[in-house]
Amino acid sequence: MLIPGRGAVHRHGGDGWVACTFPGGDDAAHRHWGLFGAAGLMLVRRSPEGVVSDVVLQHRALWSHHGGTWGVPGGALDTGESAVAGALRESREEAGIDPAHVRVVGTHVLDHGVWQYTTVVGEVADGADVVPSANDPESLEVRWVGVGELGSLRLLPAFEAALPALWRVAAGE
Ligand SMILES: [Zn+2]
Repeated sequence: MLIPGRGAVHRHGGDGWVACTFPGGDDAAHRHWGLFGAAGLMLVRRSPEGVVSDVVLQHRALWSHHGGTWGVPGGALDTGESAVAGALRESREEAGIDPAHVRVVGTHVLDHGVWQYTTVVGEVADGADVVPSANDPESLEVRWVGVGELGSLRLLPAFEAALPALWRVAAGE
């Protein structure tokens, strides 16, 4: 994702704000980043028993929207770009995650009518050793977070609200 005036490294055709009045947002009138919607990747890895043990999270820069909270790497979709393609592109740009090591499990959509955010749930493919890294100024840190650690982190409100549904997607339900 790119923040206007911050000189971030990646620029795309979908960069821009969408005005939204969908009820239940941050307030009655709010806005979203991404002219064609936005998408992010929730990458998980599993224990040898197949249980989800960790998830890649991004600690958002303090000056960003909901700064200081933790969420998944992601950003605005480009013109004509699918949510899965956009999520994989953003996670490569922001978090250094090679899409070749990601197996897409499913998706979850937050739908505000004029704007959608798709969380693509993926798991590490083929036992690859994926080491995420903070690759742009939007992140303080990007790293594996243990499932048991999630409760002690301040999460991005929309991500926290979607978590129960995201766990179901990750579990293949
Ligand atoms: Zn909205």
